[in-house]
Parts: sequence; structure tokens; C-alpha cells
Amino acid sequence: MTVRNVTPAARSSEPRQTLLKQAALAEALMDGLDVGIMACDEHGRLSLVNRVGRDLHGFDVGDTIEPGAMADSFVVYRPGSRERVPADELPLLRALNGEVVDGQEVVLAPPGRPRRLVSCTGRRIQDEDGAVLGAVIGLRDVTSQRAIEAVLSARAEREAPAGLPNRVLLDRRTDLRLGEDAGGSRSVALLFVDLDGFTSVNDTHGHAVGNHVLRQAARRLDDVVRATDTSARLGGDSFAVMCPDMPAGDPTHAERLATRIAGELGRPFYITGAAVQLSASIGIAHSRDEDLDAEELVARAEAAMLTAKQTGAGQIATYSPTATALVRRPPAAARIERLLRTAIEDGSLDVHYQPVVNLSSGATVGVEALARLTDDEGTAVAPTTFVQVAEQCGLVGALGEQVLRRAAIQVAQWKRQLLREQEFGLGVNLSVHQLSDPGLFTSVERALDEAALDPEALVLELTESVFSDIEQHTDVLRELQRLGLKLGIDDFGSGYSSLSYLRRFDVDILKVDQTFVADLDDKRDRQVTGAIVRMAHGLGMPVIAEGIETPQQLAALRELGCQLGQGNLLAPAASAATIGDLIARRRLIVS
Ligand code: C2E
Ligand code: MG
Ligand code: MG
Repeated sequence: MTVRNVTPAARSSEPRQTLLKQAALAEALMDGLDVGIMACDEHGRLSLVNRVGRDLHGFDVGDTIEPGAMADSFVVYRPGSRERVPADELPLLRALNGEVVDGQEVVLAPPGRPRRLVSCTGRRIQDEDGAVLGAVIGLRDVTSQRAIEAVLSARAEREAPAGLPNRVLLDRRTDLRLGEDAGGSRSVALLFVDLDGFTSVNDTHGHAVGNHVLRQAARRLDDVVRATDTSARLGGDSFAVMCPDMPAGDPTHAERLATRIAGELGRPFYITGAAVQLSASIGIAHSRDEDLDAEELVARAEAAMLTAKQTGAGQIATYSPTATALVRRPPAAARIERLLRTAIEDGSLDVHYQPVVNLSSGATVGVEALARLTDDEGTAVAPTTFVQVAEQCGLVGALGEQVLRRAAIQVAQWKRQLLREQEFGLGVNLSVHQLSDPGLFTSVERALDEAALDPEALVLELTESVFSDIEQHTDVLRELQRLGLKLGIDDFGSGYSSLSYLRRFDVDILKVDQTFVADLDDKRDRQVTGAIVRMAHGLGMPVIAEGIETPQQLAALRELGCQLGQGNLLAPAASAATIGDLIARRRLIVS
């Protein structure tokens, strides 16, 4: 940082009043910041400390930071340890020594004040000729951010999949049975079960959800098999089932079991409200009367599974040394793709709306648009399922565009007809895939124009995964924000446990994931939710709690200072007609 020399001549030509005013303004500005600022002259004497800096440290202008006396005057620890930071590593002195300080974290423990974990950024200040004038550092209090992050990753750990026996046990039991059955009328069947598309669950929803799905998959597998069978987790998203008591020479028993397993794992996995649709590829190998060991049997079943997978997701194949035979082909994804294409093409995709409610007044302050798709029998397909299929087959842009256009027109109409143009928000979900679509900006702009909807009413909801790779998406997100619309983080806290992006990118609204609301009974989870609400409010973001189902949850959220919410208790998602009625009625109650 370079500071121009202010010459006495220049100073005297400036009216004193103006200078004083400028100084007062600068001081007010500095004190208004939520970052601590400390600057020192070339001797280490503090020349500037703003309000937050004083609060953090207890130091003020004029105090001298002498490297020698440093260790005594500043009680500064390394994060997570009892070790003091030596004088030459203190951020301000490092900066004074010419180092660039960028995100150095230290624990400040001034006597009589609470300990704070701060992240420091600093530079040396020099004049035009290179003479050192001093140094300046910014201190950001990251205590609660780090505490929340620690709890988020602990939650992810706690959700780690468990329960089923592992490979070692499977092999031991299989070898035992193979030995007993050799040459008899019974044989061992081994089913190698591999989830299709599981990686995208982790990518889209985060590891906590991924682990949750794995645990549910393990439980379903265990429920389907008989007590005498052994189901095991082979690692990652692969499972095995060993059936020791199959009639030798009759493969249909194992095939029927595989079909049941495929059916079970093909049902949506519900992650508190959201549904994840997967399928399983299954390979079957029979021991027959050959001299096989467990390892070889598992390898054969795996080979059959790979053949099944190559043919497409959700297939079953039985191993044979000559030609591995496919058992069946349930074209779930293909069917959904067809439904989706038709619905998008003829404009019959349905959009439902869920009210966003002010938790203290009960007023409906906006809605979230949620896409709906029904199959030929009139059964609803879970949105997470068809959104995932849409992402995989390149239809998610068209899906999102249609939902946005329809919803914008609907909300603009409600505003005109029912709300006397009062402020009213519209949340529309945006898949991360849409961010790479070069036509996104134009289609959002067009939807707003077409509906004559004020851009400020629109909140595009993005999941945290967008922010784990924020650099890649910064330009498009900023461009969208320039339209005047808002960006919200959906399902906050469900996946990515780093919060630093919240400061690097201007997000307007935070939607706390349903799992936090569901866990509010737990004291610790309640504290985390409270900390998240405070942190968001500190950053100027309103918080919407999702999935409020019970009066207890509602009361707890109110107590934690959360102002907005969605959930079946308040109002479930429903058709435009139903929500229109509700808005009309609530307007009378509230105003
Ligand atoms: P989301 O954006 O987090 O939407 C909230 C989900 O929570 C909705 O599920 C809603 O119906 C459900 N929900 C609301 N209140 C409660 C409650 O009290 N309890 C429980 N258990 N659930 C509640 P839905 O409609 O099944 O949608 C699931 C997800 O599918 C959405 O999660 C969103 O990620 C995605 N989705 C839906 N529509 C669209 C869309 O048009 N575009 C994109 N890209 N994604 C969409
Ligand atoms: Mg949403
Ligand atoms: Mg959500």
C-alpha cells in the first residue's frame, strides 16, 4: 500500500474545517466497519485503531507494540493450541516487516476479554520513495463461523454410513458355506449390488446426504434378505448379499431376490422432505458345484454387475463363463425422461407454490415455485427424481425456464389482483447445471419482462454446491444480480461445511436446511441453528427455515430469532388456485 506524502504546504492550503470534517467522517466510517482495523507507524506505535479493533484487543491509539515486550502485552495463541504466537509472527509486525499477511488466523486472548479467533490481512505502508511509514492490518472475527463449521462437519461424520458387516465377514461366512455345500443340492448365490449415479448425489447434495442415502440403502437391503442371508457393504456405494441356501441348478430364486432388491433401491430415498431417486445394477454369481472360494465368487458377481451396468442403469445380470446374461431392464430414467420431454414440450408441466411465512405476524410474504410431474397413471414423480433426470439428459434448462416463466406471470398476477402491488417474493430453484447455460441470463430477463414482474421480487435459489466452486460461477451470478434479482442459498448446512464463501460472495437470503429444523429438539442442534441465524443476520441476510412441521419447531425458531419459514405446518405446497385463495384470505387477516 502506498501513501502519498502530505506536504505541510498542501495541508495549510486546505481549510482546517474541511480537514476536521474529513477526519470525523473517516473515523465514523472506520468505526462502522465490522472488521477490526489497526495501523501502526514505522516504530510500531499504534496510529489507528477502530471500534472493532479496540473491542477485540483492548488497545488504543498511542500504545506501542514493541517486538520485545510483545509476548507480554499481547496474549495471542495459535488456533487450537496453547502455544503463544511469537512476536515476529504477530500479524501487524509481520506486515511491518514487509510480509503480505493473508488470512493468518490467531486467537486473541486479552486479559479480561473473551477469546476471539480472528483472521488477519495486512500490508506494510510505504511512501512513494519506498520509505516505511508503518503497517495496517484488518482483523475479522471468525469465532462463530469456525464453531458452526466444526459442528457442520461433525454432523456429516455422525451421519457416516454404518450397520452392515464388511467384506471380511462376508468372505468368512461365504467360505464357510461353500465348504459345507460342496457337491450338495444347495448352492450359494452371491449378489453384487452397486448403486447407479450415487456420485452425483454426493456432488449435488453433499456427503451428509450421500451418507444418509447409503445408510437407508443398507437398511433396505437388510430388510429384503432372509435372516440366513448375509448382506454386507463392500465399500463406496457397493453392497453384496450372500444367500447360502439356494436350490442348486435353479437361478430363478436369486433373480427374484435381485429384482426385489432393485425395486427397493429404486424407490426414492427421502432426506427430510427431499427425495433422491437412484437405481441399482446387480450382478449374480452361483457357486454350483465348482471349487470356488469367496473371493472368486464375489469377483464373478462383480463382473456380472459390470456387464449389467454397461447396458444401462438399473439392470440385473447373471454370471456365466461364456456369456453373462441380462435378466431384466427397468427403464425408470428413460420413462421419466419421456414424461418430462412431453410435459415441457406441450407446456403441461405443473407448478405448485409453497408460501413463505413471516413467523411473527403469520403473513405470507412470498412463495417458492416447485415443479410437479405426474406419470401416465397420475402418480406424482418426486421432484428430486425428475430434476436429477432432467440434469442428466440436458433438460434442466428448459424445465427451469418453464417454471420461472409460469411462476413469474402467476406472482405478477397475484400482486396486481390480490396484493395491491405489495411486496411479495418469488423463489425459483436453479440447478447448478443451468449456470453453465449461456442462455440463462437472457431467459431470466425475458421471463421478468414478459411477466412485468419487479426483479427485486425474484429470488433464485442455489444449493451450496454452487458456492464450493464459486469462482467458476461468479460472473454469471453477478450478471444476474445486476438485473436486480436476489440470490438465495437453499438447503444451507446440508452439505458443504465451509462458510467462507458467504463473505466472498454477496448472497441475499439463506434457507436453512430441513434437517436442522427436524433436529431442533436436540439442544446442540438448536444452538447451531441459533448461531447460523445470528451469523446470517450479522451479514444482513434474512433467514428462511424450511420444513417446519410441528408447533414445537415453530416456537423454537421464533425463540432463535428466525423471522421467516416454510413448512407443512404453515402451508404445504399447493396449486396456484389453492394458494391464490390462501393469499386472498390471509391478506384480510393480516392487514
Ligand atoms: P427445495 O428447493 O429445498 O424445496 C423444498 C422442499 O421441501 C419441497 O419439496 C417442499 O415440498 C418440501 N417441503 C415443504 N414443507 C415441508 C415440510 O414441512 N416437511 C417436509 N418433509 N418437506 C417439506 P419438493 O417439492 O419435493 O422438491 C424437492 C426439491 O426438488 C426442491 O427442494 C428442489 O431442490 C427441487 N426442485 C423442485 N422444483 C424444482 C425446479 O423447478 N427446478 C429445480 N432446479 N429444482 C426443483
Ligand atoms: Mg428451494
Ligand atoms: Mg430447500
